Amino acid sequence: MRALSSSDMLQLWERGYGLHPLDQGLIALAAGSPGTSLDAWADLPLGQRNRALAGLHSMCFGSQLGGWVPCPSCGEKLEFELDSAMLLAGASVSSETVTIEGQSFRLPTSRDLALAAREIDLPNAALILAKRCSLDPDASSSSWSEALIEELGEKMALADPLAEPRLSFACALCGHAWDELLDLTGFFWTEMEVQVRRLLREVHALARAYGWSESEILTLSQARRAMYLDMVRSERLLA
Ligand SMILES: [Zn+2]
Repeated sequence: MRALSSSDMLQLWERGYGLHPLDQGLIALAAGSPGTSLDAWADLPLGQRNRALAGLHSMCFGSQLGGWVPCPSCGEKLEFELDSAMLLAGASVSSETVTIEGQSFRLPTSRDLALAAREIDLPNAALILAKRCSLDPDASSSSWSEALIEELGEKMALADPLAEPRLSFACALCGHAWDELLDLTGFFWTEMEVQVRRLLREVHALARAYGWSESEILTLSQARRAMYLDMVRSERLLA
């Protein structure tokens, strides 16, 4: 994994604009690891994908993840901040497979999740995921009870805790307690959009002042860009 340059981020933002968050996460990982294809990332268990996404976030923007969530009961805003290194340290894959009633299943990947996510009905989506992950070619999904599917979800979450990392919240105002999914792709993408917006403002200011092209401006180091921007600003103040 490598940190993304200014032009990498610009290209990634443009490529991922309007895509499903699952795809945004995968193309971000492929951009940060030129040796690993998009397909290879799509076929990795979700926890490994999330671990790599947290690593990419850390390299590009630091390891602090913060924000706020509204209390579902009273609407109070709860602020939070955590270090992704702490999150990763306490969550490792305990087993690559899960067995229930003698049937084995592998851990779900982004590709499995993308197919299941097309189904609006949640029980059906869980069944699609179970079918995709079944390691028994003779397994008959019609014999799977609702309880089996539910237990499968719980065991998969235990085996791969980073597949759907959750944060626990307790509202100081009304006492309500709940869990919230930690959206690592969302964190990365939001932070990248802030950077891209800043970058495009800089390109705009320098292109106007010097007549340079976008690619010429992007090849400047951040230090040189900042220096030219300082000069443009001070010239405007003097004018
Ligand atoms: Zn509350």
